[in-house]
Amino acid sequence: MKHKGTIQKVISLVQKLQPGMLPVIFFTRVISSGHPFVNLIFSAKILDMVIRKETMESIMAVVWQMVLIEAVIAVTRWGLEKIIIIKKRVLSEQVYQMICEKTLVLDYEVLERKETLEMIQRAEEGMNSQGDLGSFCDELGQILDRICSIIYAVVMLVPLFLPGVMTQDTWLVRVLNSPFSVFIPLMAIIFSLMAATRLQKWMQGKQQINFERNVKLNRTFGYFFSFIWDYAQGKYVRLYDMQDMIMKEIRSNQAQVEGNAREMIGEMHKSGILEAIVLLLLQITSYVYIGLKATLGLISVGNVLKYIGAFQQFYMAVQSITYSYVNMELRSKYLSYFYDFMELKNEKYDGTLPIEKRDDNEYVIEFKDVSFHYPNSEEMVLNHVNTQITLGGKTAVVGKNGAGKSTFIKLLCRLYDPTEGQILLNGIDIKLYDYEEYIRLFSVVFQDFQLFSASLAENVAASKEYLQEKVQACLEQAGFGQRLAQMPEGIRTNIYQVEDNGVEISGGEAQKVAIARALYKDAPFVILDEPTSALDPVSEYEIYQHFNELVEDKTAIYISHRMSSCRFCDKIYVFDQGQIVQVGNHDQLMQHTDGIYRQLWEAQAQYYQQA
Ligand code: ADP
Repeated sequence: MKHKGTIQKVISLVQKLQPGMLPVIFFTRVISSGHPFVNLIFSAKILDMVIRKETMESIMAVVWQMVLIEAVIAVTRWGLEKIIIIKKRVLSEQVYQMICEKTLVLDYEVLERKETLEMIQRAEEGMNSQGDLGSFCDELGQILDRICSIIYAVVMLVPLFLPGVMTQDTWLVRVLNSPFSVFIPLMAIIFSLMAATRLQKWMQGKQQINFERNVKLNRTFGYFFSFIWDYAQGKYVRLYDMQDMIMKEIRSNQAQVEGNAREMIGEMHKSGILEAIVLLLLQITSYVYIGLKATLGLISVGNVLKYIGAFQQFYMAVQSITYSYVNMELRSKYLSYFYDFMELKNEKYDGTLPIEKRDDNEYVIEFKDVSFHYPNSEEMVLNHVNTQITLGGKTAVVGKNGAGKSTFIKLLCRLYDPTEGQILLNGIDIKLYDYEEYIRLFSVVFQDFQLFSASLAENVAASKEYLQEKVQACLEQAGFGQRLAQMPEGIRTNIYQVEDNGVEISGGEAQKVAIARALYKDAPFVILDEPTSALDPVSEYEIYQHFNELVEDKTAIYISHRMSSCRFCDKIYVFDQGQIVQVGNHDQLMQHTDGIYRQLWEAQAQYYQQA
C-alpha cells in the first residue's frame, strides 16, 4: 500500500472515529516545535547583553519574557497532550471493536480458513506493534513538528551565511564570509542524512522480519495459553498428565521469542553506535565552522550558541523526517494488515428476497443433486443428495460417523454453499433470499454448542433483552426446570466462572439450556445435532416423550446415534458416504434386512441386550 493512500485512509477514518484529534495533534506540534527556538533566541540575546555589560534590570526583563513565553507553551502543550492521550486510547478501543465487529459478520466459511485466522492475528498484532492509528497520527504530527523546526531553523540560520564585517583579510576569512560557505555544513548534513537513512532502512528490514516471526510464535503461544486457562480443558490436562508436554511447547516457543529479541537488540546496538558516530562527525563540523566564524569576529559570541543550536535542530529535524518517512513505510505495512482484514469480502452471495411469512408455515426445502466438498479439501463429503423436507413432523438423520450428516445440516443452514447442485426453499434457490431472514427459519443445536459466561436468560434469548416468562417456559420445556429452581437468582443466575458468582452446570444441563435457546428462537425448523448425547437416560426419554409438545407444529430434524430415538420420528434419512441411501419410517426401514438402517439398529440393540 502506498503511503499516500494509507495517509488518506487513516485521516478519514480518524476524522470519523475521533473528530478533532488530528487538529489537536497538529496544533500541539506547531507549538512544541517552537519551544527550543525560543530558548535559543533568548539565551543568545541574554549572553550578548551580559557581554555588552548591560544593566541587570534590562537583562532580567528579557529573562522574565523568556520564562513567561516558555511557561505558556509548556502549559498549553501539557493540556493538549492530555486530550490527545485520552482520544488515542478511545481510538484504539474503537479499532479493536471494528476488528471484532468485522470478525462477527464474516461468512463462517471465510472465518474458518487458516488464512483468515492469520489475517485477524496480523491485524491485531500490527495494532500492537507500530501499526495503531494513534501512533500513525503521532508520526504525522511528528513530521509537521519537524517541518516547522526546519522553517524556524532556516529563518534563524540565514544571518549566519550573510557576509559579516571583515576585520582581517585572509583567505580563511574570505572563504568563511562568502555565502557559498553554506555548502560546508550542507555537505556534512547531506552525508550524515544519507548514512542515517541507510542505517534506519536496514534496521526497519530487521524489524519486519522479526514481526513476521513473532506473528507465528504469538499465535502458537496464544493457543497454548488459552488452552491452559480454559478450565474445561483442565481436567484432560491433569488426567493425561499433559503439563509437561504443554510446558515444553511453551518453553520452546518462548526460547524462540527470546532468541529473536536478543538478535534484535544486538542489531539495534550496532546501528545505534554507527548513528552516534555520524552525529558526532556532523557536530564537529558545525562547531568548527561556527567557532571559526566567531573567533574571526564574523559573528558575535552570543550567536554561537544560537547558531549551533539552530544547526543541531535543523539536522535533527531533517533526520527525523527521513526516519519518519521510513517509519511510515513500516507503519503503513502494519496498518495495511488492518485494512486488508477490514476490506476482506464475504464471498457468499447474499440475496435480497424476503422470506414469505407464512401463517400456515408451508415451507418446502429441496436438495437438488447437491454435492459438496469443504474449501480446504478436494474430497466430496456429500454426493448427489436429492431430497425434500416438508414442514411438520419429526425427521431423524442417522448414519455412521463421517457419513455427512452434520455437513448436510450446515448446508441446509447455508453455513456453506453447495459445490454442485442447488438447495431450494419453496422452489427458489436459497442463495436468492436475504440471509438474515433465511436463517430465522432455523433453530439449531450443534454437537459443539457453546454457552456464554452470562446469565441463563441471556444464554437462552441469545440477547441482552429477553422475555422472562418465555425464557422460563423454554427452560422448563427443555427439562431444566428442576435445576432452575435451585439457581440462586433464577434465570438471572450467571453461569460459568468468568462472571462473578458464576454457577457451574454439567454438560447435560448445558445441553438442556442449548435446547431451550433453540426453542426460544421459535423458528419453524428445529435442528438438533446429537441432541441428547450428554443427557442421562431419564432426561433423554423425557425429551423425546415431550418433543411433540416441544416442537409443536414445527419441523424437527435430529441427528442421532441413539437409534431408539428414531422410533419417535415420522421419517428417517440414512446417510452413508455422503449419500442418502435409505428413506422411510422405522418399520419400513426395518423390513430391509440387508439395509444399513437395520444393521445400525441391530448393532445397538445387540449391545443393549448384552448389557
Ligand atoms: P457426520 O456428522 O456424519 O459424523 P460430518 O458431516 O461431520 O459427518 O463429516 C463428513 C466428512 O467431512 C468427514 O470426513 C469429516 O472429516 C469432514 N469434515 C467435517 N468438517 C470439516 C471441515 N470443517 N473441513 C474439512 N473437512 C471436514
